[in-house]
Amino acid sequence: MRVLSTGAGEQHGEHRRGTRLPQLWWVLTSRSWVRVPINVFVIEHRDGLVLFDTGLDPAIVSDPRYVDSAVGRLLLRRIFRLHIDPADALASKLEALGHAPSEVTKVVVSHLHFDHIGGIAAVPQAELLVSRREWQQLESRHPEREWVLREHIEIPGARWRPIEFAASPDPLLAPFGGIHDVMRDGSMVLLPTPGHTPGSISMLVRTAGLPPLLLVADLTYEVDLLMRDQVPGTGDAAQLRASFAKVRALREQLPGLLILPSHDPGAAQALSAAMEPPAVRAAAHRSRAVSTPR
Ligand SMILES: [Zn+2]
Repeated sequence: MRVLSTGAGEQHGEHRRGTRLPQLWWVLTSRSWVRVPINVFVIEHRDGLVLFDTGLDPAIVSDPRYVDSAVGRLLLRRIFRLHIDPADALASKLEALGHAPSEVTKVVVSHLHFDHIGGIAAVPQAELLVSRREWQQLESRHPEREWVLREHIEIPGARWRPIEFAASPDPLLAPFGGIHDVMRDGSMVLLPTPGHTPGSISMLVRTAGLPPLLLVADLTYEVDLLMRDQVPGTGDAAQLRASFAKVRALREQLPGLLILPSHDPGAAQALSAAMEPPAVRAAAHRSRAVSTPR
């Protein structure tokens, strides 16, 4: 399991942590910016390389027409500041980890926003898994108003596979109302966690030698916010709270569950700490305990 970031962005504090102000108000007036990664998770499975999301396409900053609508272009600058150059493209970042893009067999797309689908052209051979509910957003007349940019999703040759969820025999996962077992071995299980978008999904990764991991994409921008029930400034607040509650209940049942959001600056470090051999982890824990007494 590895994580890479396809460049960096900045988003408003109101976007990240939520606010009582109307969305258009903070979009147009906020001066609070928080720097965030655009994470892609890479899972090395014996049957092939699996990605969770594909990040941003550098063309979003180099091509002035990447966002087709003029209103969209204007709002994009108000909502995100993007720091991305050609070396941040998914293919280059995968190669830096020692993987050819052609090794990727499956991509789990958490949701269809432009900062999660930007690398799909680099992996044309891969099957692109997305929830059926999320895919239905493309049936609306103006999906771009929800930052679902059809021209960068419905690209020639892309092997999209909208999936349905099936009931799980595992009582631990039953509250999610359905699952999809990506590799049919329980190592990667998709769970519906709507709220950020109607069809957003999370992925539970269970593998020997690592604590269980839950990749939650944009359900929250920081784990602590989810634990405190503080919803972000976008999405459906009631759906977000319902999904938050299911994730917190799962963490109670799965001690040590590591929750990894896509735009949490602490996610990469939390993952690398979890991947340290147990002896190193215990030593680090002892030294932390000494340096930060309670
Ligand atoms: Zn995102």
